[in-house]
Amino acid sequence: MVDPSAAARLAPPDAGEIAALSSAHEHVLASIADACARAGRDPSTVRLVAVSKTVPPERLRAAVVAGLTTLGENRVQEAEAKVDLVPGATWHLVGPLQSNKAKRALAAFATIESVDSVDLAERLDRLAGEARPAIRVPILLQVNVDGDPAKAGFEPDDLVAALPRLTALEWLDVRGLMTVGRLADRAEDARPTFIALRALSERLRSGSASGAGLGPELSMGMSDDYAVAIEEGATIVRVGRALFGSRV
Ligand SMILES: *Cc1c(COP(=O)(O)O)cnc(C)c1O
Repeated sequence: MVDPSAAARLAPPDAGEIAALSSAHEHVLASIADACARAGRDPSTVRLVAVSKTVPPERLRAAVVAGLTTLGENRVQEAEAKVDLVPGATWHLVGPLQSNKAKRALAAFATIESVDSVDLAERLDRLAGEARPAIRVPILLQVNVDGDPAKAGFEPDDLVAALPRLTALEWLDVRGLMTVGRLADRAEDARPTFIALRALSERLRSGSASGAGLGPELSMGMSDDYAVAIEEGATIVRVGRALFGSRV
């Protein structure tokens, strides 16, 4: 929740910063539209999450004015430090979540994109059900489609087995799948990862009764490869550097 008294004390965002971020936003929207045109998709089916890790709250206030209202963070603590200082933003957690921070994550984030185990899902479900008022939390299931040992996420076969338990959780709205592609020199190299996530989603959703509880969202694609991800069906792209510049 935004503390209104804290929000009222904030300095107004810098006009030059707003102009620069508006222009970066427009550029990314144009690339999204181009990728949608190539794929015969409607651009309104793609949502942009502006990944704001390391970006200070003053700049994020300018980002909100520039229309970047959905922000992604990969650490609970960093988001907690920003939430009250950036009124008007909605936050997605895109990084790994330790169970002991689950309650704080539910307080800071509207959507948790990085649910990567049944234990974590069950804990989030219990906490969401205990909240007053209880809330049904939108989540995505992170999948390690490449079997990359450095990456978090369900192994695809494990997810097939776990899906009935996950979609039965009362207080979680399992909107779809998320993946982090492997680091690649060329955007094209990420395409097989994106194809695999979409194929897994289709298989899970058509395969069984529990698949009916899995939503169609596909969060995939970052600054270097979001156009390719959209060609392969991304409904959420998580873009940091292409909006905010490189992180130092
Ligand atoms: C940092 C990050 C992004 C954004 O990466 P960019 O290369 O800056 O676009 C997307 N997803 C996750 C999970 C991240 O940690």
